[in-house]
Amino acid sequence: MPWQLTWKTWAPHNIKLFHWLAHLDRCWTAERLQRRGLPHHARCLLCDQDMETMQHLMIGCGFSRQVWFDILAWLRATCRPPDHDDTLIPWWSQAKQATPKAMRRGRASMSLLIPWMVWKQRNDCVFNVAAPSINDVTAKIQDEPNLWARAGALGLRAILPST
Ligand SMILES: [Zn+2]
Repeated sequence: MPWQLTWKTWAPHNIKLFHWLAHLDRCWTAERLQRRGLPHHARCLLCDQDMETMQHLMIGCGFSRQVWFDILAWLRATCRPPDHDDTLIPWWSQAKQATPKAMRRGRASMSLLIPWMVWKQRNDCVFNVAAPSINDVTAKIQDEPNLWARAGALGLRAILPST
């Protein structure tokens, strides 16, 4: 069951819930709005290229892929970043093999955090007419695990670059 990914992480409940809803296709992406005949933006607001689906937002989008690339580089992860057509769970199953055991739970947590922050940025663009910013998203992602670590996920420190 893919939900092993979400259980074996330090991601807080709201992030796990987001992934659960995304998995159930319950998030109001443009694609879902279109299927229901509701108003929606024609193209992804982050890249202005493709229809916005959840797979696109999490991984396929050029914006998201840059974020993945930057964060994996920051973590000095040697696994390959997700490709355009990847989906999260199968990608992680592969990436896990290239990840030392002691770092797997931390990296799995980061792999849930990245799509969550991209989704928040997307919502900012939709509801607050924000301009998409890769730097903004990566900075938030780099900040967040420190908060989790303070909240008790001490093992997470093991995967963070020392500052
Ligand atoms: Zn996009």
